Amino acid sequence: MMYICIRVTDSSKRCVLVTGGAGYIGSHTVLQLLLGGYKAVVIDNLDNSSAVAINRVRELAGDHGPNLTFHKMDLRDKSALEGLFASTKFDAVIHFAGLKAVGESVQKPLMYYDNNLIGTITLLEVMAAHGCKKLVFSSSATVYGWPKVVPCTEEFPLAAANPYGRTKLFIEEICRDIHQSDTDWKIILLRYFNPVGAHSSGHIGEDPRGIPNNLMPFVQQVAVGRRPALTVFGTDYSTKDGTGVRDYIHVVDLADGHIAALNKLSDTCIGCEVYNLGTGKGTSVLEMVAAFEKASRKKIPLVYAGRRPGDAEIVYASTEKAERELKWKAKYGIEEMCRDQWNWASKNPYGYEPQDHTA
Ligand code: NAD
Ligand code: UDP
Repeated sequence: MMYICIRVTDSSKRCVLVTGGAGYIGSHTVLQLLLGGYKAVVIDNLDNSSAVAINRVRELAGDHGPNLTFHKMDLRDKSALEGLFASTKFDAVIHFAGLKAVGESVQKPLMYYDNNLIGTITLLEVMAAHGCKKLVFSSSATVYGWPKVVPCTEEFPLAAANPYGRTKLFIEEICRDIHQSDTDWKIILLRYFNPVGAHSSGHIGEDPRGIPNNLMPFVQQVAVGRRPALTVFGTDYSTKDGTGVRDYIHVVDLADGHIAALNKLSDTCIGCEVYNLGTGKGTSVLEMVAAFEKASRKKIPLVYAGRRPGDAEIVYASTEKAERELKWKAKYGIEEMCRDQWNWASKNPYGYEPQDHTA
């Protein structure tokens, strides 16, 4: 028998539930959804984000702003989630909500398993009960562990380096299992590489709580004078300049990747599929710092240190599958990423709620 895939791509008034939509990647994705004609309902417990981000997304969306609804809610609050699904019919869910600090996950594994796994299982149960079986999930390149070769293709063996990474691996497996048990489920697992940058308006961006774990938020805080210097972790890697290499991707490109994934969920024959979202290009720490210095015209003082435990040497994506099947490709390079990161940082040196920042 021959199967033909049919796609229905009219986004007008399709309603998407976005968990964790007040966060860094979520807020940019919600904006792209609204601009694309979708209705978006965001739930977020604001543990690592601010309601100000939601207000700014609404403003940036202009006439589409009224299509955004926000509920402060924890994913593990099953009765609240039940109430929401009972009152609103969702066409699909984009699931960003989760804790993401690698170091913290090593210190507090149960907190990570509780939040990320129980939160996701609760969501999946409520979705199933209400017949909403289309999901886009935020996975991560961390599931490739320490790749022996690059670029990473979606078929690479999977490994987890820490409890955070294990939550991503476990959730991917749960998704494969539920699709296996009930083929009505249509699921796309997106493995993000390293999201950086901000919306070109400079009104939304990344605002981490406490000391940033990731490279670019740290660089940004040095540039605005909040921290004295960037510590470069590792100068003896087998890379062009000895520092670690990653695949940095503009957050707006990443957000657009979610719209492409939603469109793909409209294919009648999709099951549970995984896609890398990266640029396919590797950039070293020193190259990234140089690009940021150029964009900001600020000098970033550096302190050279040993390798960060658990770090991979070189990680970048194979982008072929996403280009071929999602018809999506990143548009921006590191110049635009650094330009937009600096625009956000210089307009919001202390993030969304300056009065709340003590460090
Ligand atoms: P973020 O912390 O800015 O956003 C996550 C949001 O989820 C936050 O607003 C937080 O308040 C919310 N949240 C957490 N637990 C919740 C719960 N139980 N109930 C309701 N809301 C909850 O992080 P981000 O960078 O936007 O990442 C989004 C997703 O992408 C996460 O799942 C993360 O693991 C994944 N991811 C991020 C990166 C990255 O480098 N930023 C890379 C790969 C994957
Ligand atoms: N890095 C660094 N100093 C920092 C943070 C990160 O030198 O303060 C390096 C890190 O060792 C890695 C690269 O920057 O080589 C990207 O790190 P990040 O934590 O942003 O992403 P991940 O390692 O999770 O891909």
